Amino acid sequence: MTLAFDGLPPLREVLADHGIDPRKALGQNFLLDLNLTGRIARQAGPLEGQTVIEIGPGPGGLTRALLAHGAGRVIAIEKDPRCRPALEAIGAHYPGRFHLVEGDALEIDPTSLTDGPFKIVANLPYNVGTQLLLNWLTVPTWPPRWLDLTLMFQKEVAERIVAGADDDHYGRLGVLAGWRTQAEILFDVSREAFTPPPKVTSAIVQLTPRAEPLPVSMEALERVTAAAFGQRRKMLRQSLKPVGGEALLSRTGIDPTRRAETLDVSEFVRLANALS
Ligand code: SAM
Repeated sequence: MTLAFDGLPPLREVLADHGIDPRKALGQNFLLDLNLTGRIARQAGPLEGQTVIEIGPGPGGLTRALLAHGAGRVIAIEKDPRCRPALEAIGAHYPGRFHLVEGDALEIDPTSLTDGPFKIVANLPYNVGTQLLLNWLTVPTWPPRWLDLTLMFQKEVAERIVAGADDDHYGRLGVLAGWRTQAEILFDVSREAFTPPPKVTSAIVQLTPRAEPLPVSMEALERVTAAAFGQRRKMLRQSLKPVGGEALLSRTGIDPTRRAETLDVSEFVRLANALS
């Protein structure tokens, strides 16, 4: 067998040897090209001495790239027990630098896995990707313990995360991400890069925490954005009726004839603070 650059078997053989046939229910669209996973690892860097938490390592293509690019330690949360033997082989190849946590990432608080700061890097399972991001974005204390997030999403979701005012993709996710982080799309990844190919193009998004997000109650911000974007084509005086309508708008000096998608994050924060 010809080994890959890191001395481990090629990922196609890993899948075949361990009988890992991709399952849709687990959002399994694997990356088998170590050049591509290497590119993602470089974008997530510098990794030297860092702890990286990876969600859904699967057969380990991204895991191997993170370790080969110098990550001090990778802690990987994987739900599918079929992946364990392949991942244990990676752990044996990089002694002391790889830890597998078997379980559901939705139920695991990453801060419980390590004491210090960490990065999160993942080719996320699409069915739970947005919820995981929301969990990390809405932690009660800020700045969070995570240093940055480098994540693969469906491109349409990636566009919603990075969208700002006057962008067609702008909505509640863009306001929340923009309030607490600086988010950017690093590059697109075509369907053919995955096994099996998903239905749509993907993109890598990177989010870096803002040191001092504008002060506001998250709950109030949620209420205002839910109302405003719940009827995004309507004028604010109509869409914001359930949370105070014209009175709320006049307290903040925001024109009631505007629509939700024209308000930037600081204007949503003003509305939320007037509400609370
Ligand atoms: N990182 C691998 C790669 O790039 O080839 C696999 C990525 S695949 C898109 C998503 C991975 O997440 C799968 O290995 C799947 O089993 C795992 N997964 C799905 N739901 C999960 C969950 N709730 N918690 C942890 N892992 C999950």
